[in-house]
Amino acid sequence: MSKTPVILYIEDNLENRKLVSRLLTASGFEIHTAVDGPDGLTYVQEQTPDLILMDISMPAMDGYTVTTKMRQLPHLDQTPIIALTANVMKGDRERSLKAGCDGYIQKPISVDTFPAQLNAFLARGRLSSPT
Ligand code: MN
Repeated sequence: MSKTPVILYIEDNLENRKLVSRLLTASGFEIHTAVDGPDGLTYVQEQTPDLILMDISMPAMDGYTVTTKMRQLPHLDQTPIIALTANVMKGDRERSLKAGCDGYIQKPISVDTFPAQLNAFLARGRLSSPT
């Protein structure tokens, strides 16, 4: 059996953090949460998660900005960043890909399919042409 996937989830909303933490822990992932962009950036200074779930709408520093900063870190080269947002505005998907995300999951998440979605992103790895 392969090692437990380590997920970093950056999300300002406490209820979302609790829900996703419970769900992913129960599904066999190891999950670390960060309460905002700077908190997430601090975590990745010394850690290399297998996948990063990135809330887009956050105060102070939005998920696009955090993603752009993380994409400047060579040790995260193989780590997919998946945007997670309720924002359905046209162009959001393109904007997240342009920032360096490798995929997009729309909120509200489906508890039935969310773990499988993450496994699919883990299996696929990074997009070869993020833009
Ligand atoms: Mn948010």
